[in-house]
Amino acid sequence: MSFHRSAGRLWVEGVALSEIADRFGTPCYVYSRARLTENWRAYDDAFGARAHRIHYSVKANGSLALLNILHSLGSGFDIVSGGELARALAAGANGSDIIFSGVGKSRQELIDAVTVGVACINVESEAELDRLTEIAAALGRRAPIALRVNPDVDPQTHPYISTGLQGNKFGVSMVEALRLYRKALAVPSLEVRGIACHIGSQMTSLAPISDTVGLIVDLAKALEREGCQLSHLDLGGGLGIRYRDEQPPAITDYVRVLCDVPERFEIHVEPGRSIIGDAGVLLTSIEYLKAMPTKHFAICDAAMTELLRPALYNAWHALELLEPPTADVSSRRYDLVGPVCESADFLAQDRELCLSPGARLAVMNAGAYGFVMASSYNARPRPAEILVDGHSVTEIRPRETIGDLMASERLATARELP
Ligand SMILES: *Cc1c(COP(=O)(O)O)cnc(C)c1O
Repeated sequence: MSFHRSAGRLWVEGVALSEIADRFGTPCYVYSRARLTENWRAYDDAFGARAHRIHYSVKANGSLALLNILHSLGSGFDIVSGGELARALAAGANGSDIIFSGVGKSRQELIDAVTVGVACINVESEAELDRLTEIAAALGRRAPIALRVNPDVDPQTHPYISTGLQGNKFGVSMVEALRLYRKALAVPSLEVRGIACHIGSQMTSLAPISDTVGLIVDLAKALEREGCQLSHLDLGGGLGIRYRDEQPPAITDYVRVLCDVPERFEIHVEPGRSIIGDAGVLLTSIEYLKAMPTKHFAICDAAMTELLRPALYNAWHALELLEPPTADVSSRRYDLVGPVCESADFLAQDRELCLSPGARLAVMNAGAYGFVMASSYNARPRPAEILVDGHSVTEIRPRETIGDLMASERLATARELP
């Protein structure tokens, strides 16, 4: 068990989280290397001998130490920006380990992707196809592409993280896809490699996934009838995890559905949350307890600046005390809120907790879409990140300082442009 309670204290692998809080302060993120590894291997093992490639979605958590561990396991990377390209390369990946998704790739991002030789660019519009055609020709290269299609399947998840419906900005419609594939096939500077899709995140049902697989395979067969041989089908990411009482499918069951794809196609997946989500927690300390006429607030030192998901998606995260409460403290219903000047600044609402000032908590399942969405709003430095591997503890990112926040700023000087 990566996170477990023993003798009243909460542990990650062989280290008590209270010791990490003592040593590095709060708020801070803590990751379990064992859990990260286990999750990635669950995908790899489930595919077994079936031709496949796992491209971890860097946007879920792009910290270099974590990317480097995944690279050493044999993972590829799914990126959505030039910044993530640089991160994947810095973590040890080669261009051929990387696929590039995203609806708004800039000219420079496409130039960089073609130059480093990424394995595939998942094109999301005709305008992007035209831009890439021109860029690859100018560089004297053939750009490997897939079209990201929007299968118009409802992933049955939160509207902000559903991406494969007709009203979403992502991908091209199934109807457009055939015409754009024909167009791409006629362009010498493009090399059509596959089809891509990604219909949403935190999916807890297999039905939309299996519908999507059917639609993508149908499209692949239609393309074959026109003489277009594809080497891979990229079925995206999006498998959910258990935050509260969700019952997401096991990785093995999910992969079994993906393996409905005919053997002649390599299967690509782009999981993010299901690899890093339950491998990380956010530690926080209670600053004040505040009784208001209708509510009790527990004000802690973490905020929407450290973990945006509750404010953005009304997301629910389990809370765990790092140590047993002192005997004289009674349990109450609290809203756990941060110091930021926004009423959306909460980490949890209406939770029965035994708290006293100074108590420390772990916000569970915070590994995905946690640190990556951290901001310095209210001039708050971003938190430290700690990696635990058995009994060993590494600070993989020190806490930002106020100096870091101001380092690149300049005062206005009255100077006219030449
Ligand atoms: C966000 C994203 C993923 C990963 O989604 P998870 O829900 O974290 O698994 C995969 N592919 C694309 C294109 C994405 O935008």
